[in-house]
Amino acid sequence: MKTDFLCPKCGGHLSVGGFVIFSATNIKGEQGLILLSPHLGDYSKIIHPSFKILVGSKVNYFCPICKVNLVAHEIHQDMVHMVMIDENSEKHNVYFSGIEGEFCTFKVSDKNIEKFGETSANYEKFFAARHI
Ligand SMILES: [Zn+2]
Repeated sequence: MKTDFLCPKCGGHLSVGGFVIFSATNIKGEQGLILLSPHLGDYSKIIHPSFKILVGSKVNYFCPICKVNLVAHEIHQDMVHMVMIDENSEKHNVYFSGIEGEFCTFKVSDKNIEKFGETSANYEKFFAARHI
């Protein structure tokens, strides 16, 4: 089984065509679609050229199915939450930074936290306080 990503609210499948798909808004409130790599730590991103995202600005990520804002309030206002089902059918919570250009992802299981990306140390304390 391949890795899958789900909306934590509606359980809808966000992985389509080899990407993880979100609807999003930029700091001007303009809407667009964002396609992210399903490989944690790979920060390549596909967006339509008309949807402008400035490095360092916050992007709001929404489930394209139920439209819920995926912000992880329980961790940090800049963290985005999705559910990952790995190739062994195990469930993990995945969080990544909604700040454009911040390379930071956490994969959280019951007793294990894996971090990816060069700025993940900036957010580590928010996870440590919660899970250790
Ligand atoms: Zn949803």
